[in-house]
Order: sequence, then structure tokens, then C-alpha cells
Amino acid sequence: MSLVYADLHIHSRFSRGTSNSLDLRNLEKYARMKGLNVLGSSDFTHPEWLAELKQNLTQEQDGIYQTKTGFDFLLSTELSLIYSQGGKTRKIHHVVLAPSFEVVDQINEELDKWGRRDYDGRPIFGKSSIEFVDTFMSISRNIEIIPAHAWTPYFGIFGSMSGFDSLEECFEEKTKYIHAIETGLSSDPAMNWRLSELDGTTLLSFSDAHSYWPWRLGRECTVFDLKEASYTNIINAIRKKKLHSTIEYFPEQGKYHWDGHRNCGVSFSPKETRKHKGICPVCRRPLTLGVEYRVEELADRPQEVVPDNAIPFKKLVPLSELLAGVLKKGVATNTVWEEYNKLLSLGSEFDVLLNALPSQLAEVTGRKIVNAIMRNREGKIKIQPGYDGVYGVPLFGGEAPTEKPQPKPSQKKLGDY
Ligand SMILES: [Zn+2]
Ligand SMILES: [Zn+2]
Repeated sequence: MSLVYADLHIHSRFSRGTSNSLDLRNLEKYARMKGLNVLGSSDFTHPEWLAELKQNLTQEQDGIYQTKTGFDFLLSTELSLIYSQGGKTRKIHHVVLAPSFEVVDQINEELDKWGRRDYDGRPIFGKSSIEFVDTFMSISRNIEIIPAHAWTPYFGIFGSMSGFDSLEECFEEKTKYIHAIETGLSSDPAMNWRLSELDGTTLLSFSDAHSYWPWRLGRECTVFDLKEASYTNIINAIRKKKLHSTIEYFPEQGKYHWDGHRNCGVSFSPKETRKHKGICPVCRRPLTLGVEYRVEELADRPQEVVPDNAIPFKKLVPLSELLAGVLKKGVATNTVWEEYNKLLSLGSEFDVLLNALPSQLAEVTGRKIVNAIMRNREGKIKIQPGYDGVYGVPLFGGEAPTEKPQPKPSQKKLGDY
């Protein structure tokens, strides 16, 4: 048996808001640095990206497609459904895993009857989740449908703006085909354990990365313990809830952990939101309710209850963000990358964050960084929570840096590793 670190929800350069240099070569390079073993292909509904996938990937075995340099991909995509159900507008994203290019071609053929899929890596269709599951299950029972970032206010199945209160309310008699949800960046498994209705549901974590930089790719992933990485083994593990563990972003770092208004500079905990009756004290309009608020609304258990068959998880600040915080530099600066590369002489980023001994770390980096890595490993990093689309900020002493758009480093600056 060996551990397989899989990030199955990412995006290609054909998705909105992604970097132009997002291609298979860069994805593989950065996935290897991170310590990931399997990546989702992403965006298989996009005609140009699909052509690129078919040209560059060859089937290694059952549902695993490899690059020429031997990195494993599994075919995956994300779709957006916008429809009306129960007298409300619903906007739900779903991740889809497929066993082969043949099945992908059949999926695309069906989607062409629903609308266009060439304008975005994550196309929108006006079909209900029920009709969507029905259609996809009639193509192949081996397709896996996973409600994406389940708690985000706008596109999550349990989101405060356009979501549902339960899987059954969304999928009705098709719920039996849903085995898992993606918990998303702003929630961790412990928050999901508070809903007894999710006891039978597998909680998965993926990055939803729109770039390949190591502070995005693999910032959340699912760890499988498998004889070998194959589509069947991965799907069976998801369906039978047999995961090794998940790696999580601190949920406070997610963009929708707390409530608030980005433009009004208002950030509230659920308690403060209730005190203000959900209304922004600056503009008097309703606040964007975040994930913690929504979990408390639907929870039927207190905090700290661990269900019997709970899968262990580990919260980690990605190494580049940790270095940026300790060194008080931007995450894409030379200073941070130089330190990152020194640490990567010890192995992958996950090796550094999870396994390297303090003495090994101390041979390549300074004391403050060693301490931060160890505190990170113990889950002891304080975070200024994210809200209304603003990422949370890990605090490493001193005041929090203000949220600024990240400059994009050039290839030259990044160096070779
Ligand atoms: Zn999404
Ligand atoms: Zn406001």
C-alpha cells in the first residue's frame, strides 16, 4: 500500500481568472514540487483543452493518464448549474470525475444538447442537479459527481445565497448516486461533522486552484491509501469512505469563512452578525453570510463531536505563504522563492511541512522558519479570518499584512527546480 496525494479539482487556462501559462508541463512540475501524485485533468468539457489532454496524455492503466514524463492525471472537470427549484434560484457547482476519454466524449455529446461549452473551462447549464445526475448516470455509473466547495455562499450546495439545506432537498431520489462532497477552503471536516446528515457522506478536499503556484495547487488535497493509483481504486475509496486523510487549508484562511462586506470593510463572526441581525452597519444592506454562519444554521451537533467513522485531517498553511508571513515579504518574491528552494532540497513541500525533522530543517533554514513549520504541523497558526471574497491571513507575529493582489513572478525569477 502506498499513500497517494490527489488534487482532483483544479482549472486549466481556459477557465476564467486563470494564468495563461497554466499548461500540463507546469502543472506537473509544480505538483511534483508540492508532493502530489495525481492531478485532475480539469476542464475536460473545453474543446481546445480536451484536444491538448488527448494529445499529451496516454492511458497508463484503468482511468489513469500519464504525461510523457510519467505523471498521473485523472479526468475531471467542474460544471455550473443555474436553475430554479422550490421557488428559488439555485446556483450549484459540481466536480465530475470520468473513467476514460470515451466517457468524456459521451458526456460532451450530451452537454452539446444543453448548450455551449467552448467559452469557459467551467461552462454553465440551465439544468437541475437532478436532471444532471440522471443524464450522467445514464452515460456511465462509473462517473462520480461531487458537489463542489459545498459551503461557499454563491455556488455551494449548502451555500447561504442559492443553496439547499440538505443533499436530499437538492437531489431528491437521485441522492443515492452522491457519495461525497468537497468541503471547500472555508470549511474543514470538523465543521462538517456537526451535521449528522453528512455521517454517510465522504468529505473530500481539493484545491480548486486557478494557477499552478504551490500556494494554490494542492493547498487542499485528499490522501488515499491504495495498492496502486487507478480510477477504480480511487472511486471505490470515495464511495466506501476509505480515505487515509485529507490535507486542509485553515478554514479561516478561506475567502468566505466569516461574514461581512468587502467594500464596506466589515468583517463579522457569526455572533457579531446575529447581533447586527445580518445587516451591514455601513451600507444597511444584508451581509454576505459565510461558511461558519451557515454551518451553525444547519448543524444539529455541538462543536468537538467526532463521528465514529470520521476521517483524520491535517490543517496546513502552504509553505510559500508561511515563508511570506515569517519573512514579511510577498508570496511571489525572490526572497520567498530562494528560501522555498533551499527547503525543497529536503524533498517535496509536503515532506518539508509534514515529515522533516527540526534538525534537518535547521541545516537549510533559520530558527524562526523552523519554529513556524513546527507550529504549522501542530495546527497552531493564528489566522485573521477571510470574509466576503477576501482571503484570511495567517499571522506569524507582528501585525497582519494588508491584502494586496499578488504580483505574478516571471519564469526567469522563479528559477529552475
Ligand atoms: Zn466552483
Ligand atoms: Zn455593507
